[in-house]
Amino acid sequence: MSIKTPEYQLNYFTDPFDTKTNTIFVNTCGFISSGRDEADTTVRKLLKAGKTVYLLWCAVQYYKKLTQEEGIKNVHYLSRGDLNKVNLKNIIQWYDSKNYGDFEFATGPRVYTNLEQKFEYLKIAEWCDNKCTFCIIPAIRWKQQSLTIEKIITEAKNMIANGIKEMILIAQDTTRYGTDLYGKPQLLELLKKLDKVKWNFTYRLLYLYPDIVTLNQVKELKKLKKFLPYFDVPLQHISSPVLKKMGRFYDEWYIAKFLDQIKKIFPVRYIRTNLIIGFPGETKEDFDKLVKFVDETKFDNIALFEYHDEPMAASSKLPNKVDDYEIRTRFTKLRQLVNRQLLEHEATRKWKEEIGYIMEIDKWIFVVRPQLHCPEIDAYDEITIKKIIGTFEDKTELEIWDKIIYTV
Ligand code: SF4
Repeated sequence: MSIKTPEYQLNYFTDPFDTKTNTIFVNTCGFISSGRDEADTTVRKLLKAGKTVYLLWCAVQYYKKLTQEEGIKNVHYLSRGDLNKVNLKNIIQWYDSKNYGDFEFATGPRVYTNLEQKFEYLKIAEWCDNKCTFCIIPAIRWKQQSLTIEKIITEAKNMIANGIKEMILIAQDTTRYGTDLYGKPQLLELLKKLDKVKWNFTYRLLYLYPDIVTLNQVKELKKLKKFLPYFDVPLQHISSPVLKKMGRFYDEWYIAKFLDQIKKIFPVRYIRTNLIIGFPGETKEDFDKLVKFVDETKFDNIALFEYHDEPMAASSKLPNKVDDYEIRTRFTKLRQLVNRQLLEHEATRKWKEEIGYIMEIDKWIFVVRPQLHCPEIDAYDEITIKKIIGTFEDKTELEIWDKIIYTV
């Protein structure tokens, strides 16, 4: 069936409140209440400003219910099967077609929002098949939908052609990439193909789920030339009974093996994790084990979360809830340990030479990202020109993404 293409002026603005914008696409997060609250506040502000809002991804069903209950108009929803439709023009055509199932979507390059800083997110799959009990995604999601290796490579080439130098591969569970399409995880196969794409670029992975990355695969990663040894492994806990209640498939024995393997194979690497404190049934012994684990492992970056019930998550129905005061106390104790580790780490960096990329230049101040730190996640350094020792290209005028040697 042929679809009439509407006459839209497709200009792209990064400021949603710009007076010249009228249609806004909001990427919602259904993972935790703070994410939902942020999207909720943003949507209400946009509606107040007279915008038409399109909601995408995780929390679409949640908002659909909410806005219908409240009789809110001018909000539209993008949902199931939209993974291939994230090109702005196609989305609008898709909505106008009112014939969602029949539309043939072109695979034109998408709008890249981080072009100036030369990195971009490369989504390789959407949704996930896991059943982590603290997460509402199992309640609101669909089955994992991976993009084919060919489509991802095409997108990567588009990015390179647009000047992107670093790609950040993402999915809810990156490690299970391809299971839906190819019958088994194909992350390594994808990376091998991506690695062969010519030109000068690097890539990193977010959200590695450790049970499926075999120890042997960690060795294989070492053979890749453009892979950045950045391991973002959202472990959530270390105590096996807590992990089991969380619906995670690995235990403390495997985590220890996995981290050892990374450290052995990659003498220079960056390891980041997320931890939840006060999960239902977390005993004093479980928490002490977690503290010891953090103390000994010395992660490069940790995000800590206090557990709270998410109404649609399975964990909200678990018995033996930890008292709020106790959660706060445990959180504070772990936070203090992490802060102390960070300060110790910072002290070791003083006067040592660092290699990093310039991310911003503000007159005399250079915002520099140490080379393994992930854009928008890990800390950047702010330095003056005096701290710069040299550039690899020996340039006189520095620009964004120049690789420099500097001291903190
Ligand atoms: S892996 Fe677990 S926490 Fe992550 S999206 Fe899937 S169910 Fe949620």
